[in-house]
Amino acid sequence: MSQDQVEILRKQVDEINLQILELMNKRAGLVQEIGQEKLKQGINRFDPEREREMLNLLVENNNGPFTDDTVRHLFKQIFQASLDLQKSDNKKVLLVSRKKKAEDTVITIKGVEFGGTSPILISGPCSVESYEQVREVAENHVKRGLRTLRGGAYKPRTSPYDFQGLGVEGLEILKRIGDEFNLVTISEIVTPSDLELAAKYVDVIQIGARNMQNFELLKAAGRLGHPVLLKRGLAATIEEFIYAAEYILSEGNSQVMLCERGIRTYEKATRNTLDISAVPLLKQETHLPVFVDVTHSTGRRDLLLPCAKAGLAVGSDGIMVEVHPDPDVALSDAKQQLNIPQFNKMVDDLLASGLYKQEIPVAAR
Ligand code: PEP
Ligand code: MN
Repeated sequence: MSQDQVEILRKQVDEINLQILELMNKRAGLVQEIGQEKLKQGINRFDPEREREMLNLLVENNNGPFTDDTVRHLFKQIFQASLDLQKSDNKKVLLVSRKKKAEDTVITIKGVEFGGTSPILISGPCSVESYEQVREVAENHVKRGLRTLRGGAYKPRTSPYDFQGLGVEGLEILKRIGDEFNLVTISEIVTPSDLELAAKYVDVIQIGARNMQNFELLKAAGRLGHPVLLKRGLAATIEEFIYAAEYILSEGNSQVMLCERGIRTYEKATRNTLDISAVPLLKQETHLPVFVDVTHSTGRRDLLLPCAKAGLAVGSDGIMVEVHPDPDVALSDAKQQLNIPQFNKMVDDLLASGLYKQEIPVAAR
């Protein structure tokens, strides 16, 4: 065979390649149409019987030189590529996604901007234990120019014999103190039917780690339309965390903040493992404010400050930390809550780091 003849045959191969390409894309277009129709009718995209029929038809008509096995293999690749195409077509852009909304969501409550230009410290006792206990923390908040007070009234405890929280009485205490000191209040709610009442008492509803996939609670919080702080589940992937937030937005409530609070791993040196990369990842993937809870992630007083700095350095919108007037006698999380002087030292160190700014300047207090 002369060089010229090879060239002629190669040209023909090129042409056939282009024809195959055109046909494959034409086929893909039809498959996409079928996919859209299946989506409308709620039918599963993968249909093994249909695949079997198509392969049989191809093999029956195979005149070689390819073997039947090769034909099956080649077409199986085409089928798979078409199925993948249907999957990506049907992937909905989530409401929480940056692709849906490019700008940051800023939630303003009592003049405090969550997700705004400056980070916010969310602090307060693990549990609301008494009016006096919370008031002592709140007084210090005001002295330090802090604006956000947390405190649990419904405590999801590992043991049913541990303190379960004061319930409505705890919410009442938060309401009274929040009004007295003009503080934004945050408290966890664990039951959908408590949400409406809780919204009358506190400014932000917290959905805790143990309830991150309590879908009825998420949907009810979405319908309520009150600001929500959603914590990452104990063993939740980022994708599951994002979908949990999507549940709330899908019911019409876009006032959602996320909180990384550590996940359970094999490591025992800390209470949980703080997933620091979750912060920039969630900031990239979603438009929601992202917080880092250093208390429940580390469970260690000696790690609160460095981890808070790390959280702020990677772009979190604020830090959650627990503070109690007398942690030794606290009814929950006695081991890792800070006392007020320790807490003030942490605030000073954060201010000195330059990563955190005074929320209310001294002159304005
Ligand atoms: C809390 O913040 O009070 C709490 C119980 O945290 P988590 O749900 O993250 O364990
Ligand atoms: Mn706690």
